[in-house]
Amino acid sequence: MLPYGRQSISAEDVEAVTAVLGTDWLTTGPAVTRFEDDLSAHVGGNPAVAVTSGTAALHVAYAAAGVGPGQDVVVAPLTFVATASAAALLGANVVFADVSPDTGNLDPDAAKAALTPNTTVVSGVDYAGHPIDAEPLREIAHGAGALLLEDAAHSIGGTWHGRPVGDLADLTTLSFFPTKNLTTAEGGAVVSPRDDLVAGARSFRNHGLVRDRAAQRFPDEGPWHQEVHAFGLNYRLPDLLAALGSSQLTRLAAFTARRAEIHARYDAALADVAEVRTPSRRDGADPAWHLYPLRVLDGRRRELFDHLRGNGIGVQVNYVPAYWHPVFADLGYRRGLCPNAEEYYAQQISLPLFPDLADADVDRVAQLVREFFGHRE
Ligand SMILES: *Cc1c(COP(=O)(O)O)cnc(C)c1O
Repeated sequence: MLPYGRQSISAEDVEAVTAVLGTDWLTTGPAVTRFEDDLSAHVGGNPAVAVTSGTAALHVAYAAAGVGPGQDVVVAPLTFVATASAAALLGANVVFADVSPDTGNLDPDAAKAALTPNTTVVSGVDYAGHPIDAEPLREIAHGAGALLLEDAAHSIGGTWHGRPVGDLADLTTLSFFPTKNLTTAEGGAVVSPRDDLVAGARSFRNHGLVRDRAAQRFPDEGPWHQEVHAFGLNYRLPDLLAALGSSQLTRLAAFTARRAEIHARYDAALADVAEVRTPSRRDGADPAWHLYPLRVLDGRRRELFDHLRGNGIGVQVNYVPAYWHPVFADLGYRRGLCPNAEEYYAQQISLPLFPDLADADVDRVAQLVREFFGHRE
């Protein structure tokens, strides 16, 4: 089965990881510091806090934002459930706001209409790698005294009007799961231009432990003393995995370029198929394409899915609207809440897209789609 996404591992990656095994540090040490510095260079120079997954990054980012009970967090529903569940776990009320029909990204008008006096965070998702509509969303969030969070699990390496992803929102979260734009096996990061949010993220990642004597309440306890000022968890990325991340980052530009090439190849091969819509791109967007979200307009998405899977093509659907998950349905969220997201979901199918995918495989997938819709050549 040809997968829809897959990591690209080089001999240098293997060397970087095995080198760490011979050092004193296996868990969070110098390789993490280096990876955070390397990451920073790819996200507009903003500090990065490495954590154990994209989900951990969301949990850490919401915690750093002070999200808790009595607060509303506006979330785009066309996403992996973690964008919403991490806020819900902290006790916040999740308010879903619909997406724009072209990109599948949080619609600024819908986000604005979803604001309440208790809104503290507005969370957009760079769906498929296409950056969010950052300026209006920032304005809307800040106008309400809220922060803008960008779930950039799909989009590191992309830019919006020349500004890199990671420099568009108050908090940006990244994922380094194997199918994503680069991998650390499991891993993620929180990026922010604000020192207080970065400090909050670092604290939550490491149990809220305070080691700096000057900041301690009981500094005379002894040289061994460390104390907790706010609850946190252990979301520390190991050095082993950070070394893989630094090595992968040296190829991020090449990965992004190859993903764009494959994207354009699908676009060209499917442009004349009236039953499908190829992905939209807004002016000013230079996406780091994580997905190729094809949309089936004649109601036969399921049949196309089965046809491609039956031919060994590991297609995927991204995503069931987050509030359709029974955990949200049981809280009273109803189908019909965000019609654009629901329509997008009903039509969507992700074709295989990863840097090592061969042109011949792209052509084979496109040909199977063409044949399914009755295009002979
Ligand atoms: C992958 C993903 C996450 C979660 O990242 P993990 O590293 O798998 O925990 C969150 N949001 C989106 C949009 C994702 O695609």
